[in-house]
Amino acid sequence: MGKKSSGGSLKMKKVGFIGLGNMGLPMANNILKADIEVNAFDLSKDAMQRADELGIKTKSSASEVTENIDALITMLPNDKAVENIFLKEGLLEKISKNTIVIESSTINPEVSKKVSKKAKEMNISMLDAPVSGGVKGAELGTLTFIVGGEEADLEKAAPLFKILGDKIFYAGKAGSGQIAKLCNNMLLAIHMCGTAETIAMGVNNGLDPVILSEIMKNSSGGNWSLEKYNPFPGVMKEAPASNNYSGGFLNSLMLKDLNLAEELANQSKSNTPMGKLARELYEELNNQGFEGLDFSSVQQNYLDK
Ligand code: NAD
Repeated sequence: MGKKSSGGSLKMKKVGFIGLGNMGLPMANNILKADIEVNAFDLSKDAMQRADELGIKTKSSASEVTENIDALITMLPNDKAVENIFLKEGLLEKISKNTIVIESSTINPEVSKKVSKKAKEMNISMLDAPVSGGVKGAELGTLTFIVGGEEADLEKAAPLFKILGDKIFYAGKAGSGQIAKLCNNMLLAIHMCGTAETIAMGVNNGLDPVILSEIMKNSSGGNWSLEKYNPFPGVMKEAPASNNYSGGFLNSLMLKDLNLAEELANQSKSNTPMGKLARELYEELNNQGFEGLDFSSVQQNYLDK
């Protein structure tokens, strides 16, 4: 893991971090490695202990994290946690006006907009900045940030994004980062299901999955799942499919994102039959007890059992 500089126009000295789970802990650690002090909090004692061992300054509450920080990052599991922290527990009241708030959890864009609106009323700069790249990306500092909010605030947060990631996209006003992230993950699920389905059909008709994948990858059916993440076991040595679908992006998280995408579709009266079908397929996988497998394991449901 390379050490990155906090460079940029604004030199950060101290950053607050709330949510030290699979994503949050390696992200907080990368900030520390860039010589920035990190104050952090998580409800889980285990997570706090792991953070302590890395040299992160753990605090006994979310509000204590906010003392003298230049930026606050939250990396929480769902809408409820984000609403609790920012609105019910009144974290915004504790944050100084100079602190930039980066909310990086994947949540309903409406919740993002609600929290950002409240922050704006209190003159606090806030961005929604969900990420793509998974736990590996969090560890390696190669995440992609998909950002919504005021573009000027993105400049303030850029030094941190550069430490934690490789790519930063500005999607538009508050909530847009979440909307773009959900659009991306819905498309990812759709082309993963489509890729698994077509490979299975070829194999059922006597084709070699390696040859078929090569043909489709280089023809008009080519897509990211075929190029980087083939779902058929043995086609790509490094892919989760060739490692019993372990690691990678879990079925439980894909279902979470597809549920959020469906809520977004319903709220905006968007017609998303493919997204709905992908959500059903991932719900089925989760109900079958495969929530802890990589999302390319949808391939299993297209093969003879
Ligand atoms: P996780 O469940 O491993 O971590 C969440 C952490 O938040 C936990 O340690 C939990 O104890 C803590 N937490 C919950 N409520 C809290 C509160 N009120 N105060 C303080 N701490 C609290 O989840 P994760 O995999 O790290 O994912 C975090 C976010 O990133 C999610 O929104 C997820 O959808 C998104 N995401 C995850 C991945 C991935 O591959 N894991 C990829 C992209 C985006």
